[in-house]
Amino acid sequence: METTSSVVIAVALLAVSATGFGDDAQLLRGAAEVRDQALAENRAYETVAGLTSEVGPRLAGSDGDRAAVAWAITRLKALGFDRVTTEDVSVPRWERGTAVARIVAPFPQTLATVALGGSIGTPANGIEAPVIQVESLAELKTLNRAQVEGHIVYLPGRMQRSRDGSGYGIAVAKRYGGPVAAASLGAVAVVIRSAGTSNARLAHTGATTYIPGKPRIPGFAISNPDADLLEYQLATGRSVRLNLTSTARSLPSVRSANVVAEMTGKDPAAGLILLAAHLDSWDLGTGAIDDGAGVAIVTEAARQVRLAGVPLRTIRVVLYANEERAVSGANAYLQAHIEELPRHVVATEADLGAGKVWRLSARVNEQHWPRIKDWMPVFQPLGIELGNNESRGGADIAILGRNGVPFVSLSHDASNYFDYHHTASDTLDKINPGDLSQAVAAYSALAYILANRKDDLGRVPTAANTR
Ligand code: ZN
Ligand code: ZN
Repeated sequence: METTSSVVIAVALLAVSATGFGDDAQLLRGAAEVRDQALAENRAYETVAGLTSEVGPRLAGSDGDRAAVAWAITRLKALGFDRVTTEDVSVPRWERGTAVARIVAPFPQTLATVALGGSIGTPANGIEAPVIQVESLAELKTLNRAQVEGHIVYLPGRMQRSRDGSGYGIAVAKRYGGPVAAASLGAVAVVIRSAGTSNARLAHTGATTYIPGKPRIPGFAISNPDADLLEYQLATGRSVRLNLTSTARSLPSVRSANVVAEMTGKDPAAGLILLAAHLDSWDLGTGAIDDGAGVAIVTEAARQVRLAGVPLRTIRVVLYANEERAVSGANAYLQAHIEELPRHVVATEADLGAGKVWRLSARVNEQHWPRIKDWMPVFQPLGIELGNNESRGGADIAILGRNGVPFVSLSHDASNYFDYHHTASDTLDKINPGDLSQAVAAYSALAYILANRKDDLGRVPTAANTR
């Protein structure tokens, strides 16, 4: 019997040697079946509808955050995960309070504004000062203290719309770094043009940062139409004065949790694949596209693979805590699983909305990259093209990549994502169920391949001192 089996296996290996290491036609056929099964029926929309409607906003450390963890445990169990656990994460807590921005002169108007996430508030009677418009952080660095001191610094950079969302990384630099840079020159507050593409009169929030021991000033974002209005008044050449009030405040850190759920694989020695999304959201909307969609996609992908049979490897879904303010969950996960990192064969993350997937890219050891091209017949029918081997993963799995874990990534069409992201308009109606299903099908097929192919994807070069 043994001899016969060996012969059969040897013949099977010979049959697949044309594709190299064993990504045989059968594996890809199975992936295509899972893809089609997910297109025909999936529960992702039901999941994101539940999360946004039964929990809604879930800023790290808030009551909503706690409710989301409880909700996720119940949901993941109901979806049939074998093991659902939580892992403690300490998260900084911040309350937005209310923010008001008024142009006092030369032409009084009220602007739609929000505090930047993590910002300090203003004194109770607000801050009133003349505005200086500075085109970029780079230009701000060229100014001297006499030019900036006592002013409110306004940073106008407009986010460029694109399918890959790359304009966002450029636009957020002023949000992260504006308050520290302006404070170092004696500014009293920072106002930025929203780092999003919305033309609604809704401002876009997102984290700002301070440096311990350095001066702190409050940061605000104003909506794109209000930024136009402010810039019109500044362009008159007359002195523009703003009055800003904010009751934002930080509170002591509290405990939140990463929710970790598994579909157990057949072979413990084969390691695991990690599917990531983040459970927290900003507080203005209900966190539908950011990142309720990702939560729904990765949980559903795991379920779709399991429906097709027990996979070779364990599929681990991690719903991370507090991605938005400090990637607290990602840091805690690394610390908790550092010994287990070699078992992490590959990671993928869904955190760019619910748009159709249009590209598959990776960051794997170079020798494995050609193999990924072989998978494209599974993805091309969904309209997905091959990207490159320079994926940066996502905010939550980046730290795994810096510790050697390879990524395979699916890029969503983000053309409209930043119209709603981090605003009060991030609500369920912005999700197109058909687009979401296409994305679920893509992630399901990918998860099937990653969980069932015999070989791993090697390790990627690690950066020093990045933990
Ligand atoms: Zn996100
Ligand atoms: Zn976000």
